[in-house]
Amino acid sequence: MDYSTIVTKQRTYFQSQQTKPLAARKAQLKLFKQMLVVNETSIYEAVHADFHKSAHEAFLTEFAILIKDIDEARAKLSDWMQAKRVPTNLVNLPGRSRIQPEPLGVCLVIGAWNYPVQLSFAPAIAALAAGNTVVLKPSELAATSAQCMADIVAEYFDPKIFTVVLGGVPETTALLSERFDKIFFTGSPAVGKIVYQAAAQHLTPVTLELGGKSPAVITPSAALPTAIKRLVWAKFLNAGQTCIAPDYLFVHSSIYQQCLDLLGQEIKKNQYALDNHNYVQIINERNLERLSKLIDPNKIVYGGQIDQSTRTIAPTILKDITTTEPIMQEEIFGPLLPVLPYSDFNEVLQYIAHNEKPLSAYLFSNNKTEQTRWTQQLSFGGGCINDAIMHITNPNLPFGGVGNSGMGAYHGKAGFDCFSHQKAIFEKPNLLEAPLKYPPYTKAKMTWIKRLLKFS
Ligand code: NAD
Repeated sequence: MDYSTIVTKQRTYFQSQQTKPLAARKAQLKLFKQMLVVNETSIYEAVHADFHKSAHEAFLTEFAILIKDIDEARAKLSDWMQAKRVPTNLVNLPGRSRIQPEPLGVCLVIGAWNYPVQLSFAPAIAALAAGNTVVLKPSELAATSAQCMADIVAEYFDPKIFTVVLGGVPETTALLSERFDKIFFTGSPAVGKIVYQAAAQHLTPVTLELGGKSPAVITPSAALPTAIKRLVWAKFLNAGQTCIAPDYLFVHSSIYQQCLDLLGQEIKKNQYALDNHNYVQIINERNLERLSKLIDPNKIVYGGQIDQSTRTIAPTILKDITTTEPIMQEEIFGPLLPVLPYSDFNEVLQYIAHNEKPLSAYLFSNNKTEQTRWTQQLSFGGGCINDAIMHITNPNLPFGGVGNSGMGAYHGKAGFDCFSHQKAIFEKPNLLEAPLKYPPYTKAKMTWIKRLLKFS
């Protein structure tokens, strides 16, 4: 089926009003959950085939998140859908005002490969909950997961409500020439710009979930080794191929050597290896090569081993890195952690503020002044104090970037809002009204208008 036929069929169905009632939305969410539960093992097998992600990690970072998303949406949907009364201003009295969320229509979701199922299905769940139809284009780099999603969605869903389209750049380019009512993209800032430009042709609203370099800082007041334990988990989860992984680490010079030692010890404790299912592969040869080039052998304090045959890079700690080195110029998106010493917290803040706004930022500190400056002076999508990555797991926190790391947000209610338009309605009773706004315009009317609007 060609793309314009898919979009036309979905738009016709959307316009039939059948996606809008609460019961219809809940039915789709129920079906979604059923599809996931029945195919749980196939999903783990597919993700494992792509880059050896274990069932343990796939459960935590793909499956469980989706099930929780569906449960939350089903429980709260009727409240989210309610029109909200808002006060009516003096000029419009008597009258009533409300904000009515309405679905946008036919939504295109473009996924990334690093959490291939979660990043494709989570926006789709939010879009269906908000009463839309969905065309999903997962990443071709996690090909087995993409095929698995296409197969199970085709088995459970009517394509006029939800369908999966497979392909890479040419297919996505063709899809983007269609008119959608919303485009939700997860991927790199470079491709985000292409998507944004394509959307502009139809004035389609977009949410861009992008990436970049997310900083972490350990100050002298931090609780070591708890900070290191949390940081190591966050960095090497998915072999560092996480959009909100700490990309690089600033450590105060007074605790620099201690932190380097603790980082090594913590990595050892975690026993990262493919054969004990504690680690994942680099997604492809191209990324393996790109990452290999970022390792300066003279700076390795831990790890550094590259195995071409298993497509893995050991968790690697690099010391005495300066901000001018190649590893500090691009998002790493792999298991390499450059550690930079600092002596003045102001310089750290300045460095981060002078670069692109990060998707996430992590401060390990028990100093209230540092915490306040971190959250108030820096702009970033979201983040944690004394932890890393975990902010994404709270559905009450909107997840998204700012500036170069993206626009818009989702998860929980934010996901519902992301796929809804907030329609403003003003309702006026047929009572007599003061004739002030109607011609003929007179001086007396103007005086009254100014008085009412408090201009005199
Ligand atoms: P990518 O931008 O290369 O690809 C993302 C999607 O865009 C894929 O589906 C791909 O097929 C499509 N695509 C690629 N090139 C295209 C083109 N020229 N025209 C149209 N479509 C194209 O990103 P990726 O490698 O899949 O993911 C890595 C990036 O995504 C990193 O920057 C990472 O930080 C970011 N990311 C962000 C989030 C988030 O939630 N903010 C989550 C995961 C990944």
